[in-house]
Amino acid sequence: MALFWEPVWVRKKVSSEGIEIETCVDETTGMLLCPLCHDIDKICPPGTKGNVVSDNMMTFFSVEDLIRHLSSHGDIELEKAKVSPLGPERTLHKKKGDEGE
Ligand SMILES: [Zn+2]
Repeated sequence: MALFWEPVWVRKKVSSEGIEIETCVDETTGMLLCPLCHDIDKICPPGTKGNVVSDNMMTFFSVEDLIRHLSSHGDIELEKAKVSPLGPERTLHKKKGDEGE
């Protein structure tokens, strides 16, 4: 097995099937990393590029494949992955300023 692959991980948001996922994407191959199997803050900290490579990296060639894999992690894990369903808008309770008026 060749470990000559030199990934250039960049933080990206990808979306498919109404789900948006923030993860590391390899600029050279376009491969997507599972943000649950890996600590993406170490592999592709926001704003920088990483070139971490190791055996057994969970990578996927398409967002659909990644989503299929993510769903096997379960809902709670999905929350951790910053996966946000884009479907019905979630209304966040915004407190109207206590300050001022
Ligand atoms: Zn995973």
